[in-house]
Amino acid sequence: MQGKIQQVYRVSKELGQKGHFEGSLQLTQLPRLSSLVVSEDAEISLRFEFATNLFDHPSIRGHVETLLELECQRCLTPMAYPINIDFDLLIDASDEDLEAFGLDTVYSDDGYIDLYGIIEDELILALPQISMHDEMTCNVYWQPETEPQEPVKKDNPFLVLKSLKDKT
Ligand SMILES: [Zn+2]
Repeated sequence: MQGKIQQVYRVSKELGQKGHFEGSLQLTQLPRLSSLVVSEDAEISLRFEFATNLFDHPSIRGHVETLLELECQRCLTPMAYPINIDFDLLIDASDEDLEAFGLDTVYSDDGYIDLYGIIEDELILALPQISMHDEMTCNVYWQPETEPQEPVKKDNPFLVLKSLKDKT
């Protein structure tokens, strides 16, 4: 099912019809994440589906991709940070379920889940602890080597005269 991504989904309905979705969000729709990046101008592509897992437990799983601009903590200029992640989350799992399945869970609000919130959490978790360019590309290491400037050679007027003389 292709279409507009909604913010809220009713779990029982989507599980019943094996809802799967594909689309995109704008970063501005995720305010907590927006506040952590340099530019709010980013598109987030995602696809996800509702399914019951092997043990008949409701889950939502999918894939998120985006390219965020973070601030390098070393040189304080923007750095592009691609995120490309899969997620597989139980819905309303008990602590025992979580241990048994080794997955994380999301909790519904009376049978409804906040998809934006889920995607936002997944993306925030995928951010680096400390954002930094690698050393080859960091602007701190990039500064043109400040070689001492050679004194500008002015033409020595006498030499100029001499060369004029030699030509004649
Ligand atoms: Zn840097």
